[in-house]
Amino acid sequence: MNKTSKLHMTTSEFRKQGYKVIDWLVDYYENIEDFPVLSQVSPGEIRSNLPDSPPAKGRDYDEILSDMDTMMPGMTHWQHPNFHAFFPAGSSGPAILADMIATGTGIVGMLWETSPSCTEVETHVLDWLVDMLGMPSKFKSNDLGGGVIQDTASSSTLIALIGAREYASKGEFNSNDTNNKLSSYVSTHSHSSIEKAIKVAGLGKNSLRVIGVDSDFAMIPDELEKQIKDDIENGVTPAFVCASVGTTNTTAMDPIEEIGKICKKYEIWLHVDAAMAGAAALCPEFRYIQNGLEYAQSYTFNPHKWMLTNFDCSVLYVDDRDKITSAMSVVPEYLKNKGSETGQVIDYMDWSVPLGRKFRGLKLWQVINYYGTEGLQKYIRENVEHTQILKSWIEEDDNFEIIAPVPLNLICFKHKKGSEFNQKLHEAVNLTGKLYITRTKINDEYILRFSIGQATGTIDHIKKSWKLIQETAKNLI
Ligand code: PLP
Repeated sequence: MNKTSKLHMTTSEFRKQGYKVIDWLVDYYENIEDFPVLSQVSPGEIRSNLPDSPPAKGRDYDEILSDMDTMMPGMTHWQHPNFHAFFPAGSSGPAILADMIATGTGIVGMLWETSPSCTEVETHVLDWLVDMLGMPSKFKSNDLGGGVIQDTASSSTLIALIGAREYASKGEFNSNDTNNKLSSYVSTHSHSSIEKAIKVAGLGKNSLRVIGVDSDFAMIPDELEKQIKDDIENGVTPAFVCASVGTTNTTAMDPIEEIGKICKKYEIWLHVDAAMAGAAALCPEFRYIQNGLEYAQSYTFNPHKWMLTNFDCSVLYVDDRDKITSAMSVVPEYLKNKGSETGQVIDYMDWSVPLGRKFRGLKLWQVINYYGTEGLQKYIRENVEHTQILKSWIEEDDNFEIIAPVPLNLICFKHKKGSEFNQKLHEAVNLTGKLYITRTKINDEYILRFSIGQATGTIDHIKKSWKLIQETAKNLI
């Protein structure tokens, strides 16, 4: 059916349909357990059910909303209580509502002047977060540093790397100059986003040094220092070290303090990637994970992972904002304005790749104000407690083995029957539609990962999921 003759949605229709969309979302959350966690469609199946060409005349919104029925089988339900894949992508009512306001107002906060609230709320809430996490105060905007919201940790790391590249080359980096050799350092367990950032920043893949890890999968500082010394002897300038707080494979914790001392000695930019685990520092008892952060020039973590702030929201902190803005800023005539000329405002366009930016600070504002520090701490503690309970269940079963320390909310484990069996078990469990877990490879073995952080999940859900894994394994033998 075609919509009425009006071109745009009227405010009264928007109100009516807006309520329907909220009802749709409420029904979605209330019935989410009726869906398979992991979408079971084949490649191309969803597309084959979509019309071949766009409508010449606009359609009625009720009908457009009903298209969700066609798309639903192709949705993997990240907010399902039995989603234990990758890392959590936390969702909450206040974050969803804040996102609606940010999208609904349609503002674009590229410059302070284009929406002062967009900039000032972001700066303010990121300063709050420094205190909430017990981070060094040098990362606050009233000191030389400050925070900025990026879409993802990958973008945060890219910006940090560009800052480091320009700092190490004194603003003269030229990828065609073979004498201008800069090296970067990660561990064998660092996230792939750092290698990608190196490609994007034009540093060349040969500039990446991959440092070994110890039996807990944490970077070995002595190996890092040895590699740095070798590089210096060979005329290469060490520019960037990335230490991880909570690696993706196993939530391993690199020793930031020891790594930081090495970086200080050789004047190398230290970036700390705490994408998922960083949120744990909301609780004083887990703040040890960021010991040594005072040595870092930049730090990133994702409230969109374990802090109930719907995707996308990654925060990047730097200890000296000039190092970032001098590397990133480009101000053509058409962006000049009185606000910027006062020198008293932040223009976040100078802190990221995109010029335009959404009012994402509002999501953090509403989440922090809705839960309060104590509410967020309760959520983190409950997840850690549930993880420890699951750990004890796995330990009680002689058929399974936990293969890495479990400091927070991820358990890496395997069935003792070997890699081939674990792969079969993994695929069979996910095919049930009742649970979604992911895998990794450690010491050449197929390992199962069970991550915990669902706002909708209870210990009963986790118990049922563990029973499902045990029973599936029994049936496969
Ligand atoms: N760093 C770590 C340690 C991660 O675990 C992840 C994703 O899980 C990333 C970086 C990349 O995160 P994003 O998807 O925000 O780029």
